[in-house]
Amino acid sequence: MLSANFLHLQADIDFVNASAADWFHLDIMDGVFVPNISYGFPVVHAIKKAAKKPLDVHLMIEKPERYISDFKQAGADILCVHYEACTHLHRTIQEIKQQGMKAGVALNPHTPAEVLRDILTEVDMVLIMSVNPGFGGQKFITQSLGKIARLKELIRSEHSKALIQVDGGVDTTNCCQLTKAGADILVAGSAIFGAQNPAAVIDELKRS
Ligand code: ZN
Repeated sequence: MLSANFLHLQADIDFVNASAADWFHLDIMDGVFVPNISYGFPVVHAIKKAAKKPLDVHLMIEKPERYISDFKQAGADILCVHYEACTHLHRTIQEIKQQGMKAGVALNPHTPAEVLRDILTEVDMVLIMSVNPGFGGQKFITQSLGKIARLKELIRSEHSKALIQVDGGVDTTNCCQLTKAGADILVAGSAIFGAQNPAAVIDELKRS
């Protein structure tokens, strides 16, 4: 939703509701963990009121454990925290699940998938950042493909049910490579909202 038109948010939410997309992906930035600031609880809450699909909330913030119940109250269905922002990741994941949300862990481009080995059976989703987090509309980092494949293998070997989500620079030119490498969920912002025919882009991403 970072790429949506915030002056016509209702129209963009209605569009996603009517589209083949499965979830709303919300990027929360604090200006500390990432150099940008996005939006906070009032916007999440407003999106929740209009959204007819689950809210997938990606926290690019330091110490996200401070806000788990606030995001639950604002309407998050899936809450994803960064590995790099959590000292006690296991505890944070448990708390997210205790609050009735699905729990995800995100990895920055420089963080290897292997760091999640001992927590893979606890998480519902792993988010691979395929750009440096903080801004929409960046170019896809191609090394992410190998990382997705290694993570898929790790998930298999650990008998985890975690889904792999890819976020950053996803578009119709790389979606097939991503799903072939093992991605289960593709996040797209500017590829959709910047397109002439956004619904057709979603359909093409879904077909990959
Ligand atoms: Zn995101």
